[in-house]
Amino acid sequence: MTKSFFTFFTALLSIGLFAQGNTNYWQQHVDYTMAVDMDVDNFQYTGTQTLVYTNNSPDELKRVYFHLYFNAFQPGSEMDIRLQNIADPDGRMTTADKKSRIATLTESEMGYLHATSLTQDGNQVSFSEEGTVLVVDLAKPIPSGAKSTFNMEFKGQVPLQIRRSGRNSEEGVALSMSQWYPKLAEYDFEGWHADPYIAREFQGVWGDFDVKLTIDKDYTVGGTGYLQNADEIGHGYETPGTKIKKQKGKTLTWHFKAPMVHDFMWAADPDYIHDIQQVPNGPVLHFLYKDDPKILENWKKLQPKTIEAMEFFSKNIGKYPYDQYSVIQGGDGGMEYAMSTLITGNRKFGSLVGVMAHELAHSWFQHILATNESKHEWMDEGFTSFISKLCMTEIMDSDKENPFEGTYKGYRNLALSGKEQPQTTHADRYALNFAYGISAYSKGSIFLSQLGYIIGQDKLMETIRTYYDEFKFKHPVPNDVKRVAEKISGIELDWYLTDWTQTTNTIDYGIKEVSTVETNTKVTLERIGLMPMPLDILVVYNDGSRETFYAPLQMMRGEKENPYEGVERTVIKDWPWAYPSYEFEIQKPMSSIQAIVIDPSQLMADVNLENNVWQAE
Ligand SMILES: [Zn+2]
Repeated sequence: MTKSFFTFFTALLSIGLFAQGNTNYWQQHVDYTMAVDMDVDNFQYTGTQTLVYTNNSPDELKRVYFHLYFNAFQPGSEMDIRLQNIADPDGRMTTADKKSRIATLTESEMGYLHATSLTQDGNQVSFSEEGTVLVVDLAKPIPSGAKSTFNMEFKGQVPLQIRRSGRNSEEGVALSMSQWYPKLAEYDFEGWHADPYIAREFQGVWGDFDVKLTIDKDYTVGGTGYLQNADEIGHGYETPGTKIKKQKGKTLTWHFKAPMVHDFMWAADPDYIHDIQQVPNGPVLHFLYKDDPKILENWKKLQPKTIEAMEFFSKNIGKYPYDQYSVIQGGDGGMEYAMSTLITGNRKFGSLVGVMAHELAHSWFQHILATNESKHEWMDEGFTSFISKLCMTEIMDSDKENPFEGTYKGYRNLALSGKEQPQTTHADRYALNFAYGISAYSKGSIFLSQLGYIIGQDKLMETIRTYYDEFKFKHPVPNDVKRVAEKISGIELDWYLTDWTQTTNTIDYGIKEVSTVETNTKVTLERIGLMPMPLDILVVYNDGSRETFYAPLQMMRGEKENPYEGVERTVIKDWPWAYPSYEFEIQKPMSSIQAIVIDPSQLMADVNLENNVWQAE
């Protein structure tokens, strides 16, 4: 089957894509109050942290854990060693000859984060560092339902920019400060998640942050949180028309508050330009980017596109719940944070809008729907990729017939490579970065687009909105999104969640034979792959007319609505999965049929498209 034939049918029948919770759920709560002093000359900082921890779990806690992420950026760290041992290391973290950049860091260039003192409710506690994790044996256990207050002093050094955070990025941003503070590890119904920082992905405890940052007064700061003393600080944050009093001394103390977040990022640079935009009936947007003539025009044009993207996501997922979002040049590539993102800035316009849309979409699928990304990376990267593709199609007026074509291609490439691991693999434990990337981003995105094929596009979009409504500000797990889809569609989906996310089973259906039975046409289909699927079958006649046949999968115990408006559909008998073949009859002679196509939308991730089409000789 030629590609143009598929494209033809996709265009003909292009689908209008635009157009309760866990029982006994509980989650911990944190209130951080931090004061940090940053020395911009040697990139060292000291801080104090008061952390009020509320144990909403049913359990008494004898230990807690903190993440000390900056310790990853030291020669010999797990991150360094993994980088040296993986077959396809991240190019951003390696030298031209594929050596670990972390291994080359000197004492003054590496990162660290150490607790220097720690008390619990006024009592000294014993604590020890295990790489990027601080293990704390409590002075007294925290009973279920009780609060406990930790007071910590800490000191850190910002590493040279290697990955996500760091100093002096390639584009000259001085400070990209993510994963910078001692961060309490999450304890939830699955237990502790004190994951070492090896490659990627995070999980945090929901709560309120109050952060005071003292830094050289020439630096403009942006990130998570609302600035409390804007009229004192200036730097573009002041109420328009306010005259900023000149501060004595070399530093300013910025005071931020962020309610109900699970992370806190900030970035600072002496040369940031700071623009502000208001989303109608939405948040205020801040743009912080280097005063570099190469990027100025694109960063101005990015601003109205960010407004459009914010409106798109708010409409299609649910209202953005904060009053502020900041797009900040920093880090490497792009990375999502609470109320903000760090992205590299020197990009072609389409790529700049693309990375903004992706990272902004993470505000929903990662931040507000705070899935444990280490365990369910496909739920944040995949869902984000899905919705940001739809957004890009709309705001960039893309004329692509199927915005997901490349996504499916990537998945097929992995599925047929023999390198695929199930999506239940921990984000650090993929044998290859290639396998992680396709599994999390592409296969995760297909989870949703293919769900739309199974339950119908309207039901998919309703599922996404309801999922957001029911699980915002929580830690949803895979079964949660599945249950929402089941309730909305009336279709049973256990088989889908299991096969797609917990196995590497593939989908391959084919048209085995088309033959004449008296005056009718008999079609014999076969199931070659192990993964079950319902089938849409399109029949195109010589006179140009079309009709479809729908073979539901028996274990779905339900049917989707006709996805092709104006095209007659016949629901044929259920296909029980174990049967390798299936027959149905078309009440027309074979001579009148031009072509028969399985899933003309190509939203079903069949790994072999060749056998999906039968054409008259
Ligand atoms: Zn992402």
